[in-house]
Order: sequence, then C-alpha cells, then structure tokens
Amino acid sequence: MDLEKGLAMESTMMHYPLTLVHLLERAGRYFSKVEIVSRRADRSIHRETYGDFYRRARALAEGLTRAGLKRGDRVATLMWNHYAHLEAYFGAPVAGGVLHSLNLRLHIDDITYIANHAEDRFLIVDDVLLPLVEQVKPHTHFERIFVVPISGGAVPGGYENYEELLASARGDFRYPEIDEYEPAGMCYTSGTTGRPRGVVYSHRSTVLHAYNAALPGAMSFRQGQAMLPVVPMFHANAWGMPYAATLAGAKHVYPGPHLDAENLLDLIEREEVTLSAGVPTVWLAILQALEREPKRWKLPDGLELIVGGSAAPESLIRGFDRHRVKVVQAWGMTETSPLASIARLDREMAALPEDERYAIRAKQGRPLPFVEARVMVEDQEVPADGKTMGELQVRGPYVTASYYNHPVGADKFTADGWLRTGDVVMMDADGFIKITDRTKDLIKSGGEWISSVDLENAIMGHPAVAEAAVIAIPNPKWDERPLAVVVLKPGARATGEEINKFLADKFAKWWLPDAYEFIAQIPRTSTGKFLKSKLREQFAERNRAS
Ligand code: ADP
Repeated sequence: MDLEKGLAMESTMMHYPLTLVHLLERAGRYFSKVEIVSRRADRSIHRETYGDFYRRARALAEGLTRAGLKRGDRVATLMWNHYAHLEAYFGAPVAGGVLHSLNLRLHIDDITYIANHAEDRFLIVDDVLLPLVEQVKPHTHFERIFVVPISGGAVPGGYENYEELLASARGDFRYPEIDEYEPAGMCYTSGTTGRPRGVVYSHRSTVLHAYNAALPGAMSFRQGQAMLPVVPMFHANAWGMPYAATLAGAKHVYPGPHLDAENLLDLIEREEVTLSAGVPTVWLAILQALEREPKRWKLPDGLELIVGGSAAPESLIRGFDRHRVKVVQAWGMTETSPLASIARLDREMAALPEDERYAIRAKQGRPLPFVEARVMVEDQEVPADGKTMGELQVRGPYVTASYYNHPVGADKFTADGWLRTGDVVMMDADGFIKITDRTKDLIKSGGEWISSVDLENAIMGHPAVAEAAVIAIPNPKWDERPLAVVVLKPGARATGEEINKFLADKFAKWWLPDAYEFIAQIPRTSTGKFLKSKLREQFAERNRAS
C-alpha cells in the first residue's frame, strides 16, 4: 500500500500482512505437540497434534491448488466440529481460497440457494452428511466433492476421499502472496426474514478478531488451556474460537456430531476443558443434567462458559455458579465476526451487592477494542444512562460494510457507515449494553414497549421452568399483548397464574403475560435459538380461533 506522500514523517515499521498463513506457521513451529481432540461419529476419540494439523492443513492447501483452486474461489464445507473442519479453516484460506461453511441444519432449499449464490466450487463434507449432499447435488455446481470419513467407513462411488487428497500431497506447498484484505472466509446469516445474506471475512478481519477473542478481557485464550466450541463451526466461524485457540496455542477439543448434555459433559471432564462456548439452549440442557445428577461429573477447576447468540438468563448464570462454573455473556452477530461485546466485571464492581453483580453479568457487556458502539433513535444518539432505549449500531475493522452480491437499503447500514444491528438496547454509564429485544420481537402494548427478553429471562428463573419464550399476540384493545410459551422441567408443575405471581414483584402489572402455553419443546432455529417466528405463527392462529 502506498503511503501518502508529503507527511511530515513516516513510520519505520515494516509492511507485514495480517494473514492466517502466519497463524498456521506459528502453530506448526511452536506448538507442534499440543493436542487436537475430536469425537468421531461413532463416539470414539480422534487425536492429532498441532504438528499433524499443520502438515494436513498444508496438504489440503496443496491438494486444493492442484485441483484447480484459484484466488478467491470458494471452498464450501458441510461438517460438524472436528479436526478436518479445522484443517479446512486454514487449508482453504492459506491457498488463497475462501472457506465457506454451510449450515447443515438449514433446509435443503436454503443450502442450495446459499451454495449457488456464493458460487461454491469445491465441497468438503462429512461422510455422515452425504444423504444431505445427495439432495443438494443435482441443484448445485460443486466441481469436486471430498468426503471426510469421520465414521471410518469407505467413501462411496462418485465421491473423492479427503484422506486420499491429503495423502497425495508432496509436501512442497508454497503459499501465495496474500494481501491482508483478501477474503478468507464467508458465512451466511440464517435470514429469519428474507433471503440469507453472505458476509465475507478478510484475512485481516479474521486475525484481528482472533486477537480480540484471545484477550484476557474477552474469551481469554492461552497456552495450557483446553477449549471446546459447542457453537458449530458453521455458525459465525464457531465465534472465532478455532482461530483464537490456534493463535494462542491452546488445546482444541471438538464434539463432532454429539451435542447432547451427556456427551459434552463427558468430553469436558475427560479432556479437562477450561473454556467452552455456545447458545443458551445448550447450557440450559447441561445445567439440568448437572442438577439431576450433581455428583456424576467432576468438572475442571476454572471452567468458563461463554454464552451468546441469544440472551443468557440470569438464572443460568446463578445456576452454573452453584456448580463452580462461570458463565460469561457475550454478544455478536455473523456481521461482526461475531464477538463484539462481553460482560466481565471490573475490579471495582466486585464490591457491589450480589444482586447487582448478577444484573451486570446478565447484560451483553462492553464493546471490545475497535468495536465502536452507539445507541440511536432515528438520527440521534441517546444518552448512556442505562434506561433510554434505541437501536444498537456498530462499526469496526471486523464489522461487515455490506453483503456479498446483495444490495441492501438504509435499514442495514447508515449513511455515515455504521451497521444497524436491529437490536434494541440500553447502554449504561460504564458502556455496558443491555439488549431489550430484536426490533421484530418487541411487544407493543397500549403504545408502550414490553421486553420479551426480560420476561423470558425472569420466567426461566422459576424453579419449575426449563425454557420460556415470550411473543406478541395481536390484541384488539392493546394492539399486542405478551404470551408466554413455557416448557416445564420433567416432573415439575406450575400454572400460568403461579408463574405470574412469581413475576409480580419484578415487573409492572401490565407487563405480565396474559396467557401461558405449556408445550414439550420450543422450536429452535438452525443455530439453536428459540424460533419465535414459528411460535408466532402457531399461536396467532390459536388466538384468532379463541
Ligand atoms: P441469526 O440471525 O441467525 O440469529 P446471528 O447469529 O448473526 O444470526 O444473530 C445475531 C443476533 O443474535 C444479534 O443481532 C442479537 O439479536 C442476537 N444475540 C447475539 N448474542 C446475544 C446475547 N448475548 N443476548 C441477546 N441477543 C443476542
């Protein structure tokens, strides 16, 4: 990059690109003995070292290059969290390609749309997911499909074996000269409204995000630590954990397709995991398993869980504290790489009364370095007083400025270059953000807003409640009123009236849900969040009928 001439002085620092090549080289060189542990499809454990990972990621880069990969070509993945996905996380970008992780939980039509929209050329897929590929293959344009035998079986005819691709490498791969602004990866938002939109990460944004994630004030990645991303590697790069862990030289532990509480707890205990992350629904299930059998698992000392994707109920934070596990809430979006804010207490906050400390930890936290945040109502920034609501807007070097081949209007980006998050928040004087709702989930009753997030978090604090989602239902008099959809803990009982009594001292009377529905499970999005649009459809009908 040419520096502007005529400056009074120029820095003497080198021009050195921030790319994933450096992270991979460093990993191979300094941490070759550190382990990468993955659960295979048959639940057996696969172990490799950073040394193996380094050789295999380079072999993949070489194989892809020989298969015809050119700069900027998309390499799609359809994979669970495991060693081969990690290899692809590095192998594709260091060859000049773009890693495009496809969300395997999406509907076939969406996967097809996304793969075609991104113009994916290559696909790396788990053998256990081939039935999915069979369905999308006729409608997509993958030139080569490499199958990872994670269940140990033979690769069926018509497909290429990922292991053979790696084995054919000569080991003389040379990295192309990559500029830090070149694309390294892409992810589509799941698009609860409209078509999914693609976000393209650069080498630079990925590296800067890894640095931020690794900070002690953020997720705190370090050598000697073992991290387990429960958040899928197809959901916003598993929140950047695989890159941050590699940067820091931490041990990687991957759950493969086994995301139930029992398997996760077993892996955490066995591999002495000290850092994990995922959406609240995962941890709600794990907390219940711990409460059912508190003596069964011996969890490692100092275990921290990063919880984000949707609001972490305060009861979840308190619940895990009883098991000496620390829940730390984070906020982010696919558009923000994703980690943008995190709720860690300052030293000065440690002296606050317990309830206040929990209230702070239940916020979405303070923006990380280089993430600028403002709260806006129309064109005005509102005061950071902890009570004025507005839309959260952010900008920074790892925040997207547009979507791939998808023009959008002023509802997504402001004229002065900020991303409109669609989240309604309040910011306090310490800069902590508290999310009230996504714009589309707010409940407008008699001209006033009711926060569905606040209500559901409080309902989940009731001892009989396992999960709760609150939605707006149309009301002729008030416009909208809250309806609570609740899943009770196994064997537990509670009525709507009892739950409202439990909420009575926490909210104004008109906030309390008018009605309760008790169901067996709240439908989930493809990333494990409560699927409120489905509940709205389901119960709007019922409301009209009654
Ligand atoms: P999707 O649109 O599929 O949910 P993202 O994972 O990008 O895709 O979701 C980003 C959104 O998730 C944010 O805009 C916000 O509404 C919500 N979110 C993320 N973290 C939190 C959190 N800690 N608390 C509440 N909401 C959150």
